[in-house]
Parts: sequence; C-alpha cells; structure tokens
Amino acid sequence: MSAVMSTSKISNAGAQISGKASRAAKVVRLQAPCARIPSIAMPAARSPLFIAAAAATAPAPSASLADQFKPNAVARVPPTQQKQTAIITGASSGLGLNAAKALAATGEWHVVMACRDFLKAEKAAKAIGMPAGSYSILHLDLSSLESVRQFVANFKATGRRLDALICNAAVYLPTAKVPRFTADGFELSVGTNHLGHFLLANLLLDDLKNAPNKQPRCIIVGSITGNTNTLAGNVPPKANLGDLSGLASGVTVANPMMDGQEFDGAKAYKDSKVACMMTVRQMHERFHESTGVTFASLYPGCIAETGLFREHYGVFKTLFPPFQKYVTKGYVSEEEAGRRLAQVISDPKLNKSGAYWSWSNSKGSFENQVSEEVADDAKAAKLWDLSAKLVGLSA
Ligand code: NDP
Repeated sequence: MSAVMSTSKISNAGAQISGKASRAAKVVRLQAPCARIPSIAMPAARSPLFIAAAAATAPAPSASLADQFKPNAVARVPPTQQKQTAIITGASSGLGLNAAKALAATGEWHVVMACRDFLKAEKAAKAIGMPAGSYSILHLDLSSLESVRQFVANFKATGRRLDALICNAAVYLPTAKVPRFTADGFELSVGTNHLGHFLLANLLLDDLKNAPNKQPRCIIVGSITGNTNTLAGNVPPKANLGDLSGLASGVTVANPMMDGQEFDGAKAYKDSKVACMMTVRQMHERFHESTGVTFASLYPGCIAETGLFREHYGVFKTLFPPFQKYVTKGYVSEEEAGRRLAQVISDPKLNKSGAYWSWSNSKGSFENQVSEEVADDAKAAKLWDLSAKLVGLSA
C-alpha cells in the first residue's frame, strides 16, 4: 500500500488514489534499486491504471496532474538544484508534525512526511499551515518491514535528494496487559519504534551519504524515560534490555520483551527507546567516518499533550500536563519541541555525531549524558547484530 502524494490542489484526492494505486502497483514490478530488495511493487505512477485512478478522483486531470505522479518528476531537477530534503517519520502529529512545520517555514527544506495515514497527515499539514509545495506525503507503516522497504524504493524513485532522516514515529502502550504484534510478528513497540527505524535508517544510508548539503544527518528520537541516570528514568518499570535473550528469540508471542522477561507495555516502550539511542551510537561508530553522516539522538522535553499518550488512562491524561508544567517544569509545547527537533537537523552548531541533545531553559541546547546501559557499546553491538538479523539485513 504505497503511493506518492504531492501537495497541490489535488492532494485531497491522494488518499483515495492511494488505494487504487496500490492495486495498480500489483501490475507494475521493477528491479529494486537496493541490492537487498529483490523485487519491489511500485505505485505504478506510469501505468494507465494509476492515471485513470487519478482521473477518477480529481476534477480535471491535466498534464501537470499526471506529471506530479511520475516518479521521475523530481529527478528532472539535478539534486544540487533541489531544496534540501528531510524525511520525517510520524509527521502526522505531535513532535514530527511540528518539526516538519518548523523546517518547511525556513523555505530551505522540502519535508517528506512518512506516514501511515495519508488523510490524517494531509489534514494535519494544512491545519498547521504548512505551505503547499513545502512537503509531500509518502506512505510508511513502520510495523511492516515490507512497507519500510517499499517506502525506501518509492522515495528513491522520486529522485529527491536526502539531507536528513528523522526517525520520530513511535507507539506507546502503557496500559497494555497483553502484547500486540507487527506484521512480521515482533512485539509492537519494539517492532515499530526500533526495528522499523533500524531497517529504514540502514536502507537510506547511501542516500544520506550522497547528500549535496555536506552536513547530512540521521536523527533517532530518544527519551528521558529510557535513561536510568535521570529521575524520570527511574520511575518503574525501568528500561532494561537485560541479556537481550528476548530479542535474540525474535520478540515474538513466545518471548515479547527484549530482556526475555514478562510482558509490560510501558517497559516495552522504554526498552525500545533505549534500543533507538544505542542504534544511533552504533551508527556513529560504524558509519560516521566512512560516510560523513552525523548520527544523533535527542530528548525534546516532555510534550505532555501529544497523541503519544492516547492509550493512557483518562486521569493520567488530565493530570500529566499540569504536573509537568507546574511540578517538574519539564513541560514543553509541541511547537517548541518541533523547533528543537528542527534545530538538531539544521543548526551547524548541533552537528556533532554520536551526541544526545537536550535543552534547559537557561542554557538552551546542550549535549547530555546517556545512561550506563545506553553507553554500553558491547551490548549495543549485540543489539545491532540481532536487529540486523531480524530485519533481514544479515543472515
Ligand atoms: P504522537 O503520537 O503525536 O506521534 C507519533 C507519530 O508516530 C504519529 O504520527 C503516528 O502516526 C506515528 N506512528 C505510530 N505508529 C506508526 C507506524 N506503525 N508507522 C508509521 N507511523 C507511525 O507522539 P509524539 O509526537 O509525542 O512522539 C514523537 C516522538 O517523540 C516519539 O519517538 C516519542 O517516543 C518521542 N518523545 C515524546 C515525548 C513526549 O512527551 N510526548 C517525550 C520524549 C520523546 P498516526 O498519526 O497515524 O498515529
């Protein structure tokens, strides 16, 4: 299920088009640009069926309409003449949406909103005032490795340059008593937040390496809750990847937690964030020197009102924002958090690879310390190897 949608007056039709396009995709198959992807279904932008689908849902199809759905429409513009491009996963709400807005507002960036729900993303982008043409929406469901691979193929087919990848999307299931699973059978929090992004970042590494802007960045959003060197990180259940025996066995129904212990939805989220932060450090170790890409993580502050807490108890959702505002003073608005994430992408001063960024009211941005577990490079290397196997990057 994938389709490219650009921002224009026909953009509302995109969600309807996407369903038809995905059926059309079945008839057009081409060799994947990536060696690890044997064959990829494309959105069939050149197929008569795709254009017919567009014609059926848009009022008056024109040459320019058809043009917008051609995968090579952007490729005609040499990368150096394109705007810098940032992919943001989970840009349909909260931190991702506000970072997208902040980047787009500079006029220097084109944002690819990598989202699982076209219509929601398009409505959100319009509601927050992102200028038409400053963004496009590309389907990505991180809870399916096939969707991640297809997203990468579709992105490459657009011909856009890539200057920044922001792995931001996440699910948080704090009240879940039983685990849920991704299409590939991984526990949902680890599968979406860590494994989906792990594959995505690896598959887009070459594009970042070739970025014309000379300061390409790969950012994976971390969290204070996974960092046990903080007060918030010590609220039970604490993050702990243990011996990674659960991950080794695939975080499946038989063993859904990375540490192999009993399922706990809140801990699964925290563990996934630890894995995200360890992955950034591993990417820095493995690839920074050879690619020039900056790998970093951040804690943007407590954005207490985002959709992340949608599955929490009602009373928690009522009390958490004022508690963060007036007691811990860790509260940050979605808009401010979005500016912080955009800063990590674009500020030349925040170009240190391997860093974990935080903010304080007095100092602004500063490089923060990670927990002992996140800093455990031997464990991180093991996490890397196990993750690579699970997503099919190694045997
Ligand atoms: P939101 O729930 O507002 O945003 C999460 C985004 O992830 C949504 O756009 C959601 O899409 C998307 N998403 C979820 N599952 C998938 C999937 N399978 N495929 C693709 N996209 C998916 O929460 P936040 O903005 O708060 O969270 C953003 C990031 O910030 C997360 O990484 C979170 O861990 C981190 N963070 C948040 C903090 C906070 O206080 N809120 C604090 C520290 C870190 P959809 O709209 O379709 O649901």
